[in-house]
Amino acid sequence: MPELPEVETIRRQLEPELLGRRIVATEIHDERWTRPEPTAPVAAGLTGRVIEGVGRRGKYLLLGLDDGSTLTMHLRMTGNLLLADEREPDGQRFGGERLYEASPALAHLRAEMELDDGRRLLFTDPRRFGHAALLAADELAPYLDSRLGVEPLGADLTADYIGHIAQGRTAPLKSFLLDQKGIAGIGNIYADEALHRAELHPLSPAGSMRPEHWEALREGIVEALEAGLANGGASIDDYRDSRGEKGSMQEEFLVHTREGQECPRCGGPISRIVVGGRSTYFCAACQTRLRKRRRPRAPAARR
Ligand SMILES: [Zn+2]
Repeated sequence: MPELPEVETIRRQLEPELLGRRIVATEIHDERWTRPEPTAPVAAGLTGRVIEGVGRRGKYLLLGLDDGSTLTMHLRMTGNLLLADEREPDGQRFGGERLYEASPALAHLRAEMELDDGRRLLFTDPRRFGHAALLAADELAPYLDSRLGVEPLGADLTADYIGHIAQGRTAPLKSFLLDQKGIAGIGNIYADEALHRAELHPLSPAGSMRPEHWEALREGIVEALEAGLANGGASIDDYRDSRGEKGSMQEEFLVHTREGQECPRCGGPISRIVVGGRSTYFCAACQTRLRKRRRPRAPAARR
């Protein structure tokens, strides 16, 4: 499932290609892509517009259009956003064989936008959980702010902010990091990688962290996400960048998917458990399991 580094990789690739381009035709092949909105008004709203911005918020990609509206897209589990160049030599299989599944046409195509330079922006999605919404200028901020907390690579993610949102929370740290309303953009991969860097056990209750842990977690989050960005994202399943190519972050994982292998920090074995239905990888030897913080005892209880 694409997380912040994967979506940001796509954004950085697409921005110089799409800015100033006009959408000359739009076809939406799957009514689920825009649900609950019908597809026809979304397609009509996109066609003829010039792309003036290519942004990201959490795991959402944002295409800003010249009438002030924004197309928000979420790749969910298996979505890919691809920029296909029809001007490439014949026979070149854009995106590799997997995207075609033995068919001459691109498989799992949910929506496509043709640009004024002949290229096409394609949304493919085998599992069909990917989604898009075309929002008017005054709808964008409420839409995003009701779903997302702070951006982890901006100045808003401070140790104090982490302490604030963790206060009183009994949820395990793994689940705490997956909550998009606290910190946006972290998913299963980068939660594991951030907790290993912070030397924190994924089952520790979020509210059990002390101030030094808030800062360690902040640093772990930033380092894990920046490693993902530096490697063009992780392709352990369906993720491909906008050129249809794999990222290499999966070769740099410290713990994620590495059950039974050696911890790169202490050499201990990496364990796998399931937290909140998600596979979770960690090193029990060097990731500290914090206990729930107890209320100070009343003096009368002491002897
Ligand atoms: Zn270790």
